[in-house]
Amino acid sequence: MCRICVQYGDGKKWYLNPKNYSDEVIYGEMTKLKVDDTMVGQLLDLKGTIQEIFSTAKRFKYDIGFGEKVDLIFQDLDDDIAQTMREGLPDLMDQAVGGQVVPLEDVEKIIDLNEGDIYMHPCICRKYYGGIEKACCMSLRPLAKDLQKNVGSWDTPNKMVSKEEAKEKLREFDKEGLVHGIFWAPIPVPAEICNCEYPYCIALRGRLHYNVVDAYRKGEYVSLVDPDKCNGCGGTPRCQSKCTFGALKYSPTNGKVSVNQMQCWGCGVCRTACPNNAITLVPREEFPQLKNVW
Ligand code: SF4
Ligand code: SF4
Ligand code: SF4
Repeated sequence: MCRICVQYGDGKKWYLNPKNYSDEVIYGEMTKLKVDDTMVGQLLDLKGTIQEIFSTAKRFKYDIGFGEKVDLIFQDLDDDIAQTMREGLPDLMDQAVGGQVVPLEDVEKIIDLNEGDIYMHPCICRKYYGGIEKACCMSLRPLAKDLQKNVGSWDTPNKMVSKEEAKEKLREFDKEGLVHGIFWAPIPVPAEICNCEYPYCIALRGRLHYNVVDAYRKGEYVSLVDPDKCNGCGGTPRCQSKCTFGALKYSPTNGKVSVNQMQCWGCGVCRTACPNNAITLVPREEFPQLKNVW
């Protein structure tokens, strides 16, 4: 169990603790962010720069260059604000917004725990990094109303969906190989279900490029391949082509894949892709060497 579960899970995973979906936590925590006010002010000052870059995004399709240009916000700004931002980002993410990878079965449980319908809307990362509108983000109760006002003008339809509709879409996204995540805003309120994809996802970029751990934490599981069931898909492993994190390797010698569990994030999309049911997810905590790798 990660430290967030220990602190906010009451013995469960933080995102499966019913208490974190209650009025008491949502409206209690929403109004008293523990981040430093100065830090928030400085981030808001920087918002102009970010907005200026984002406002030109419609003109871009993703290519090598634009993504990196946006990354410069973090990388190259060397004034006081940027310095504070870089140093304070991990704490801000920890308290204000951050996410964790979850496999399909857990994200379906999240849908059941959320009270009411879910607001499905286009992914902001794909829009800004790629000029692409894909309705694959799902706002839970605390965020649904505010976001409904803000993204209402986009071209892609955005709408409230029932629990069953949301689960059906999640199963589709799982087959596509999108990485499911649950984002807190603020901690420990589960506020947004995302279905992410590199290189568009700003959270994945934050983690993979800059190691901001709370931008996207690894999931609570790792995958295992049963070598007796794996036939290597005739040399073109279907699982491998879905893995965002490069955790699966194919051996031409034995004609099978194996998992590098240090690199596995436990998203489970390889499992869905396998025609032979050769892949299972097991709790990370069962492996002493992995249980604290987030
Ligand atoms: S975190 Fe993922 S799904 Fe959410 S907006 Fe970004 S890429 Fe889209
Ligand atoms: S190997 Fe791990 S990270 Fe890669 S798709 Fe499978 S579960 Fe996800
Ligand atoms: S998809 Fe299944 S059978 Fe194919 S290579 Fe992967 S684990 Fe083996």
